[in-house]
Amino acid sequence: MGLTKWDYVRRVPSLHERLAPVFDEVVKRNPGEVEFHQAVREVLESLRPVVANHPEYADAEIIRRMCEPERQIIFRVPWVDDAGRVQLNRGFRVEFNSALGPYKGGLRFHPSVYLGIVKFLGFEQIFKNSLTGMPIGGGKGGSDFDPKGRTEAEVMRFCQSFMTELYRHLGEHTDVPAGDIGVGGREIGYLFGQYKRITNRYESGVLTGKGLTWGGSQVRTEATGYGLVFFAEEMLRTYGDSFDGKNVVVSGSGNVAQYAIEKVHQSGGRVVTCSDSDGYVVDEAGIDLDLLKEIKNDLRGRVRDYANKRGAAFAREGTVWNVPCDIALPCATQNELDDSDAAALVGNGCRVVAEGANMPCTPAATQVFAEAGVAFAPGKAANAGGVATSALEMQQNASRDSWTFEHTEQRLAEIMRAIHDRCVATADAYGSPGSYTAGANIAGFIQVADAMLALGVI
Ligand code: NAP
Repeated sequence: MGLTKWDYVRRVPSLHERLAPVFDEVVKRNPGEVEFHQAVREVLESLRPVVANHPEYADAEIIRRMCEPERQIIFRVPWVDDAGRVQLNRGFRVEFNSALGPYKGGLRFHPSVYLGIVKFLGFEQIFKNSLTGMPIGGGKGGSDFDPKGRTEAEVMRFCQSFMTELYRHLGEHTDVPAGDIGVGGREIGYLFGQYKRITNRYESGVLTGKGLTWGGSQVRTEATGYGLVFFAEEMLRTYGDSFDGKNVVVSGSGNVAQYAIEKVHQSGGRVVTCSDSDGYVVDEAGIDLDLLKEIKNDLRGRVRDYANKRGAAFAREGTVWNVPCDIALPCATQNELDDSDAAALVGNGCRVVAEGANMPCTPAATQVFAEAGVAFAPGKAANAGGVATSALEMQQNASRDSWTFEHTEQRLAEIMRAIHDRCVATADAYGSPGSYTAGANIAGFIQVADAMLALGVI
């Protein structure tokens, strides 16, 4: 039986006296947006020593202002399906913070999308983007549209209708979306095509994740998964260890999961699981990535099909977290790994957990890892390679240049190492050695907070 939310609240330290009212206000002003509350609370918990040492941030209401998006856009997305019926979805873009640069963050198309999901993702993105050291602010968007089971023509019509409203809020210096769950290269193509058509501008820098022949960057497709493994490699290095010979459990089977699997295999480890919302696969011989990519990307099939073709085990019930491993990389979705899953991982000897997805571990799960001495890296640090490479794509677009795969991958690896080292150094400096969560939240926060102080009350 897992801990309830209230058990968790009792176990965690209370918020600093100047932060507790900020959190109360967030809950009151954003009713029902539980994922957003969770994301805010996690950051505020880390900020205790910052507020104690730097009252100027609280004096200027920097933290309250950071919790309030600069702009929230909600719009109607009508479109016509193949049978000629009118369909209706809701579109969102939350432009959260532009102190460091244009709003930057992906678009998610999934039936679970509502304002609270977009706000949690946008809030996380502020700190993640800051950690990359690149000049990008934080934002996020999406729709409750479900691309699954839709034809190519339906996906195209939906994307065109979505962009017909969103385009007026975008621009290479204003707001630059990318992909996320349900939004890959296909969707970015249709979105960019419609933006170009409406504005009559080939403004490459307005969207990232573009195809290589029309303004995309090498390594952007691979970046989040590769970057996650580069980050986890640095974590292992602090123990004098590596991926070599390690068993790794990965959840999900989309963009982040696929390229995490690829890089783990290149680094000498073996990934034995993958999953989707129908169930999970255990493949003791190691996931056959070519087969997985063919099924997920070309045939748009399910991991069940992978198991059938490969002769691997498939389970509808349960989770990958019960499969013994040395390293766990959750790469599917938020709150997919709870405290009982965390206890199972700890019991089976897992020593490193790095989040490829955004907020996949519940607060109670991260507490279990902390108490067991498992090295844990939050998504805002460990999966920042995607947005960092998006910023590299923007650089190439601005200079009308395109870099080689090797050069871009090397830049990504350097950025992930720098984020890792910054988290470690900041956690040390603020009295939480070994806590990547404290390091990421504090380092990400301070850079944005200083910029907000400099820019005045806006
Ligand atoms: P994706 O390509 O759409 O893949 C998502 C995967 O997660 C799919 O296998 C999907 O299975 C699975 N999934 C989604 N909801 C699930 C659920 N409720 N239970 C079990 N499995 C579920 O998306 P992605 O780009 O890989 O994104 C995955 C995560 O990484 C998200 O949290 C995203 O925010 C984060 N992220 C992505 C990027 C990026 O560059 N793409 C960057 C940073 C962070 P189904 O097919 O059954 O839905």
